[in-house]
Amino acid sequence: MNGEYEKRLEDGLKWRRKNPNYIKDYNRQYRKTAHGRKVNWKANKKWRNKNREKIRATDTLRYAIMKGTVKKPNACSICKSKEKMLLHGHHPDYSKPLEVIWVCHKCHRKLHQGLLPLIIGGTTR
Ligand SMILES: [Zn+2]
Ligand SMILES: [Zn+2]
Repeated sequence: MNGEYEKRLEDGLKWRRKNPNYIKDYNRQYRKTAHGRKVNWKANKKWRNKNREKIRATDTLRYAIMKGTVKKPNACSICKSKEKMLLHGHHPDYSKPLEVIWVCHKCHRKLHQGLLPLIIGGTTR
């Protein structure tokens, strides 16, 4: 048995024996990309899930305001500022789209920076 396939296989093995680093590098590169891809994919999935929830919560809230189920107050619930136009509905929990805290943009930013403790229903979040 010395067909074309065996001959090529033999040549390949010879070449690989002569260039062991090529295979090593190749495997290392492959692992690197496969690993990198896996990590990226996980991070993306997390990001997508988080954003999907966020978008859904925002949409549900907007709809509730439109229907009048949720009333937008006219003052920031933290600093009592009456810059009505700048009131944001902050979601402490995106799985509860109608549970929002109405805050001005300044307080909102502070909330996201973790500078203000949140007190909802008696519990600090
Ligand atoms: Zn405020
Ligand atoms: Zn927010």
